[in-house]
Amino acid sequence: MSGIDELPPLREVIARHGLSARKALGQNFLLDLNLTAKIARQAGDLTQADVLEIGPGPGGLTRGLLASGARHVVAVEKDPRCLPALQEIAEAYPGRLTVLQGDALEVDAFAHLTPPVKIAANLPYNVGTELLIRWLTPETWPPRWQTLTLMFQREVAQRIVARPGDKAYGRLAILSQWRADPRIVMDLPPGAFTPPPKVSSAVVHIEALPEPRYPADPAVLSRVVAAAFNQRRKMLRASLRGLAPDIEDRLREAGIAPTDRAEQIEIERFCALARLLQAS
Ligand code: SAM
Repeated sequence: MSGIDELPPLREVIARHGLSARKALGQNFLLDLNLTAKIARQAGDLTQADVLEIGPGPGGLTRGLLASGARHVVAVEKDPRCLPALQEIAEAYPGRLTVLQGDALEVDAFAHLTPPVKIAANLPYNVGTELLIRWLTPETWPPRWQTLTLMFQREVAQRIVARPGDKAYGRLAILSQWRADPRIVMDLPPGAFTPPPKVSSAVVHIEALPEPRYPADPAVLSRVVAAAFNQRRKMLRASLRGLAPDIEDRLREAGIAPTDRAEQIEIERFCALARLLQAS
């Protein structure tokens, strides 16, 4: 007995299926089922939701999600070596786990999911930020997911929740906070994983807001923020010069001093500037 289900302990599963961790696939496994159950709980009530999991690996978090009552889990795993272990979990939870083998950047997992959808994953670090950016920039808002509960390197988690004036404040913070609400809900030391990564990790829980906090066209806002943080140490009148001939006036109208730097500016002000640039 492993504690949360009738399946064998993960160490045994890994040994039996020869799942030696591969660095190229970002494989740092969570083997403590109490911990994976705790991460699953951070995703909230799953009983009425479909859950998308990226990178289930040997299935520790998958088991946590199913044991905490997820209606249906769709798990996308690139490494075919993990499939037999995941198949055993599918058999223990009949009809509740669908495993898709492939690259999460290519597979259309939403085609297999019924709303409401929650996303939960101990992400492979090499594709984690790219997936997050895609989830935060769908064609229409609200997105097809309600919440994201994701493991990141702690440094990335800090960039997601950073506030103006923080060293980590930049494009990722603005993207994450403009139309969603991110919080760091757990910190994990390297030793929580097998093998341990070099850096600490954190779980971030992100709730989609029904609509953006402040109105702005996503493409214009993205251009403004990209230009502003591309040269984050420069004054905005210099870094944003290319966006409009009268940028200093536009900045003042948006409530921003032309001599301010990007890292000081609230999302509300960037949105005001994006609206003014779009109108002019
Ligand atoms: N969820 C498991 C756990 O917590 O123990 C494994 C997490 S491990 C950090 C990342 C997992 O993502 C690995 O199983 C790896 O094979 C898988 N993976 C890596 N790149 C992937 C990709 N592009 N698409 C889908 N899965 C990927």
